Amino acid sequence: MSRHRPQFVTLAPGDSGSTISPTFFLHPDTTFPAWRDKNAKDEFGNVWFWGTPDQEWEDEQGEDGQIQAMTQRMMCGNMMYRGGMEKPEVQFINRLIEHKQAALLANTPQAKPFYSRDFVIDLDMITYPTCYFEVKTPGSPTEQERLAAVRTSPRVWRRLVVSGGISLRALHHMALVPGMGFSSNCHAYYFTDLSDGSVFGPPEGSFLDLMHISNRGVHKMAPDDQVCLADIISKEGAQMGWEYDFGDAFSHMITIIEIKSKEESTGKIQCIDGAKAGPPEDSAGYLDDFTRGGRGYEEFLQELAKHRPGGRTWSKMVHKVHQEGALNYTTKPYHPDDAFSPQAAQADIMAAIRSPGKVPEAAQPTMATIPGLPYPVRVFNGAGWNDPSGKGPDNGEKGVCGNCGCPNHLMTCARCGVRKYCSRECQKAGWRYHKGECKER
Ligand SMILES: [Zn+2]
Ligand SMILES: [Zn+2]
Repeated sequence: MSRHRPQFVTLAPGDSGSTISPTFFLHPDTTFPAWRDKNAKDEFGNVWFWGTPDQEWEDEQGEDGQIQAMTQRMMCGNMMYRGGMEKPEVQFINRLIEHKQAALLANTPQAKPFYSRDFVIDLDMITYPTCYFEVKTPGSPTEQERLAAVRTSPRVWRRLVVSGGISLRALHHMALVPGMGFSSNCHAYYFTDLSDGSVFGPPEGSFLDLMHISNRGVHKMAPDDQVCLADIISKEGAQMGWEYDFGDAFSHMITIIEIKSKEESTGKIQCIDGAKAGPPEDSAGYLDDFTRGGRGYEEFLQELAKHRPGGRTWSKMVHKVHQEGALNYTTKPYHPDDAFSPQAAQADIMAAIRSPGKVPEAAQPTMATIPGLPYPVRVFNGAGWNDPSGKGPDNGEKGVCGNCGCPNHLMTCARCGVRKYCSRECQKAGWRYHKGECKER
């Protein structure tokens, strides 16, 4: 691939472009689509990271070489692209976002009938693609490699029921995060449309882990608040990626198991099955200091399984979770098996649905003493839950019912004009949670 002159992006004066992936030297309208279709699919036919995985860095010698190249690019980017000039990678992806939004709009008539249908989805923690230089080029993996590459073993999973009309942002905040057992407003995230690698997420926000966005090969996300689940996938068996935390990189696969008929659909968010505790927040670094994300958690669980539950080594490993102050295990003990039940997950989902509007912001953790624990741990002060704009995932144009999570036929609370409900019954049932936040206009 020629890297002499970029076909579309503009390089800052002094940037030779030598540390940019040659993919970004292509033209996003003409030469890139064909290149992507030929070169960016992984061994399962999925496309990640906008279809721009950094092939070049794969050739760097070992992990050290990759990190060196990555750091070099980051420094170069931060120094040269200032004063309103966007990095070439971002210029390129901005154009891909425009294309994707036009394609989604054109597809709306096909997606719309599914907005009022319930999807039964499986959320599986997976061990790839934890970082973009790990994306593999197409090959012919053995059956064993295929199986090993997708789900973690032991399987960490949830079965959820959500409406096809739920926005990706609401899906994240009110189904996936509480369902898997993560903390609210704690880390950034993104969804991947595996057909073309499009990435959707919170475009702004104060999540600390967003600083890794370029290192993760994402560079820029299309806004996730105007896109519904059914806009991306609407067939049984179809899959979509959900990555949680740009630092720890907990990767998940969402698979449609069943699409309910319109008559059977209620739009309510429900957790109906699953197994194993969700990984402790921020644990990829301390549970395993080499591999990351799903792979690291898998190895932790496998190691834990070698020891007698409640025994000395087991307890030491589990205690580490509390010692490190994992935000999602400050009010309940971490246990690899016991920390999950569909009922408990449903309670967390209801709490997320009923809490005041969520924002694409990070909560600020502070140190606190938890009864029963001999050391202070980090807790989050809940600052991120306040949404004075009323434009959170439950209240915006594509919001959900403040009592059940249904995104359809919503009515707005007449008093505050912010909270939405799908029925009189839901408004009545939700009042005792909403009372405190409902302010007259
Ligand atoms: Zn409702
Ligand atoms: Zn109100």
